[in-house]
Amino acid sequence: MVKPKERELLLDVRGLKKYFPITKGLFRKTVGWVKAVDGVDLKVYKGETVGLVGESGCGKTTVGLSLMQLIQPTSGKILFNHNGEWTEVNAKTIKGLRSEIQMIFQDPYSSLNPRMRICDIIAEPLEANGVKNKSERYDRVESLLKAVGLGSHHMRRYPHEFSGGQRQRIGIARALSVNPSLVICDEPVSALDVSVQAQVLNLLEDLQAQYGLTYLFVAHDLSVVQHISDRIAVMYLGRVVEMGNVDQLFAHPKHPYTEALLSAIPSPNPDEKGSKIVLKGDVPSPANPPEGCAFHPRCPYATELCRQKRPQLTEAEDGHEVACHRWQELSLKGVSISNTA
Ligand code: SF4
Repeated sequence: MVKPKERELLLDVRGLKKYFPITKGLFRKTVGWVKAVDGVDLKVYKGETVGLVGESGCGKTTVGLSLMQLIQPTSGKILFNHNGEWTEVNAKTIKGLRSEIQMIFQDPYSSLNPRMRICDIIAEPLEANGVKNKSERYDRVESLLKAVGLGSHHMRRYPHEFSGGQRQRIGIARALSVNPSLVICDEPVSALDVSVQAQVLNLLEDLQAQYGLTYLFVAHDLSVVQHISDRIAVMYLGRVVEMGNVDQLFAHPKHPYTEALLSAIPSPNPDEKGSKIVLKGDVPSPANPPEGCAFHPRCPYATELCRQKRPQLTEAEDGHEVACHRWQELSLKGVSISNTA
């Protein structure tokens, strides 16, 4: 089990915000803002996997894209430990950090250029990062294909000749081609068949051990991140509402939203009757988030205080943080990890 405080910090995200403008009229006047990410603090330690979980639209993918500077954050600081020195990740520095921070994309079908051969797709980042010697690039491609369970005979093929699982393996090989230390995995298995998901997750774990990688693993499914993560951050409407190691979070959730997510995990035992918590209503619009605690319109434990005051993320116990006014008095139901599918 990971003991984060004993480990070296690799990524330190402070107060990250990403607001998208809502425009109207011929002159596209800004009439409001969609607060996709609204003040996220996140620490990722070397060698660990942090799962970032939440429903669609909670801002988890926007966090990943902001870290890669594929979209410009509105404010906040992203600090990266680059060879022992802290470097701020921004539009100016990201080019020099591309070899350190890589991303595996959600859709293995659209993330590979259909007109390029596999060898060129994987070699492209190498060339961009200064590996000019062609045979050196292709030797590296060959060893990467082997590492992800493919072979040198796949090198000259095109993406359409592969299955979804194989394409995701190619996407992983491309991300690893430049020897990154941090890999942002943006729902890498959600577009795959269930039978293939486990293979890709196992591959990611093997590669982590082999290359000493650190993962930020974005997913909407707690049962998927549970298998691969050391720690989990739960997001709701642009903010982290709970963060802790996997055992803490599954056995003793402290936020009602986490409790509801856990109750939705199917049990592998068909005789076991679950008690799924059905949340009322939909996720509110990030363009018009509720006052106070953003979860209060759906929370079965909401009080007047929850409607008026926004709770801050505070440390409930060692390494376990929660943003809820009532975490000390509530006794929330967790699940046993051995009981998850
Ligand atoms: Fe529910 Fe109140 Fe806690 Fe928000 S602060 S999660 S509304 S109990």
